[in-house]
Amino acid sequence: MAAVDYPSPVKFSSRLRDGRALAEDVWSIYNVANLPADCINLGQGYMNFAPPEWVRKAAEEALGTVAANHYSHPKGRIRLRQAIKKVYDPQLHRDLNVEKEILVTSGANEGQYSVFTAFLEQGDEVIMFEPFFDQYLASVTFNGGVPVYVPLHPPANASGKFSSDEWKINPEELTAAITPRTKMIIVNTPHNPVGKVFTRAELEVIATLAKEHNLLVMADEVYDTLVFDGKEHVRIATLPGMWDRTVTVGSAGKSFAATGWRVGWLIGPESIIRPTLAASTRIVFCSNSPLQEAAAAGLEQVHERKFFQKQTAEYAERRKILTDCFDTLGLPYTNPEGSYFILLDISRVKFPNDYAFPQSVLGRGRDFKACWFIAIEIGVSSIPVSEFYCLEHANIGEVYARFSFCKDVDTLRHASERLKNLKQYLV
Ligand code: GLN
Repeated sequence: MAAVDYPSPVKFSSRLRDGRALAEDVWSIYNVANLPADCINLGQGYMNFAPPEWVRKAAEEALGTVAANHYSHPKGRIRLRQAIKKVYDPQLHRDLNVEKEILVTSGANEGQYSVFTAFLEQGDEVIMFEPFFDQYLASVTFNGGVPVYVPLHPPANASGKFSSDEWKINPEELTAAITPRTKMIIVNTPHNPVGKVFTRAELEVIATLAKEHNLLVMADEVYDTLVFDGKEHVRIATLPGMWDRTVTVGSAGKSFAATGWRVGWLIGPESIIRPTLAASTRIVFCSNSPLQEAAAAGLEQVHERKFFQKQTAEYAERRKILTDCFDTLGLPYTNPEGSYFILLDISRVKFPNDYAFPQSVLGRGRDFKACWFIAIEIGVSSIPVSEFYCLEHANIGEVYARFSFCKDVDTLRHASERLKNLKQYLV
């Protein structure tokens, strides 16, 4: 895609001039607003069910108080920081300081943006594994950083179901990507869109390099409560010597089916949290107050209610509905060990080239057209995966469509009945 420009008497920043920064983002193109009303949305990852009743109730109660309708401290409301401490202390093996080591943000996304603002100098390089969650790219470049891509390799000649664990990093490629300008590395585990949960051994390789080259590690662990099959979720911050250089990212949206609340958090040493707080304070000042109270109530009770254990079991059932369907279709797909996404190989889906595609998907990867065609003809939307690759590597991603299973079982059953009709379009 060529750089986008618009005639205007006043030039917009060159930081937005390259690549796809001004192109419509994938979430807008495949938004339910653009698709037929009866199309089942397995595209953008949000739930079609509400947060748990006891969490919603806490939101209502918060709205009923005066204080929770007003500004919070830029660090986040103390009740939420204390609740985060309660959940994370045992997992990070630390006695977290709620004043210095925890920062509540307006969604995980804003938290990550603030870390980039706080740490990147113009031209600093940020390593990300490809495919990568698309927001990283803009968040890095808008802050003057330069993304550097290291591939996650899918298994060669995959057929049928294969585990997300089979997507591998090559330590030599990672080492070769590090230069004197490398400042940070983003480690997203469980991974969006692959569903990979990085193993301890893989994280140790990354940690060793981070220490050797003095890199900051952004551990995007927003799907940390969604890990299946007894797989171990390892927090890179807990590996020897890593606490001092790691910021761990969490999300109330993923944890409590509340993606629109925009409540997230960062956990790390004061040396990372303090500059990030300075950035976040000037970007949003503080996050929305009543929903911080509700997120706090959620985290306070998860242990007693065994909430995350129960929720994971529900997601495993949801995952199985879609994987059973993909088994029937006989197409290669990734069985995710974590998160709520499945990558389906759509290279055998055939569609007419002169199909009535909207302008927004023309000139993009083949997967943009395939996903549009599937949404209209089959009635199930998904997300084209080339969006999670840089422009130069988009052809690797256009083999896949990403389906989200953060939906109730009836919807997923309905969707899988429809998806079985894909058979007629396979070559
Ligand atoms: N994290 C969600 C997904 O991957 C949505 C992200 C977004 O809309 N920016 O589907």
